[in-house]
Amino acid sequence: MHQDESEPERTCPNCHKSIAVSRLWANQNTCPCGYHFRISARQRIRLLTDRHSFRELDGDLQARDPLEFAGYEAKLETARISSNEAEAVLCGTASILGQPCCLFAMEPAFMMGSMGTVVGEKITRLFEYALAHRLPVVGCTVSGGARMQEGLLSLMQMAKTSAAVRRHSDAGLFYLTLLTDPTAGGVTASFAMEGDILLAEPGATIGFAGARVIEQTTRRQLPKGFQKAEFLQEHGFVDAIVPRKALRETIGMLLQIHGEEGRHENHAV
Ligand SMILES: [Zn+2]
Repeated sequence: MHQDESEPERTCPNCHKSIAVSRLWANQNTCPCGYHFRISARQRIRLLTDRHSFRELDGDLQARDPLEFAGYEAKLETARISSNEAEAVLCGTASILGQPCCLFAMEPAFMMGSMGTVVGEKITRLFEYALAHRLPVVGCTVSGGARMQEGLLSLMQMAKTSAAVRRHSDAGLFYLTLLTDPTAGGVTASFAMEGDILLAEPGATIGFAGARVIEQTTRRQLPKGFQKAEFLQEHGFVDAIVPRKALRETIGMLLQIHGEEGRHENHAV
């Protein structure tokens, strides 16, 4: 077969082999060795949801520069161009294997999915929408943590989103989180770890502070594989590690079991 020499390739950081981008795409952006490349929020939604079922909510919300932080405006502009998104999270409604749900997916190309006021606001509104419509929430996280350019206002989003998750949970509704590489900082310390079920992609780094920071602070060496999804599963912080190819099926099944439960409860009230 004729091989197009100009076809773009990517090198896998795990097995160091070059793979044609088209082949990676066909494989949901995973390498044959099992390495999972980062994907955009829109790709994530496309992989998980039923065709054409996604309806975006609050897509017009854009970050401002409340503290007039040096260089932030320019960073936002670069992030908008490189990610082709207005903010670091996409929210909406969709169905997964026929199961209706609310869904959010964070965007790694937008300041590494960092959480500022708009990200917190969009996630809060999504949980409020899900509560009003008695829908489960599926949340896909990838984030470096709180957005330092918005200072304390970013940190406040931890409490705000957590309160919204709690109200949704108190109403007996189901929330599933999918932790992808990396999920860190204020996002880990709030809505990322508050799901009823926590799934992770293989090899994902999940933690609060970085391993080096912890080692330097505690002056102790951390165990091997610390903050990897597999380590967290062994220690009971993550329920299951699911390869990308099996995610749709797994999440669809979990929604069928738990999503129905929430709706039945509603009828019983
Ligand atoms: Zn590989």
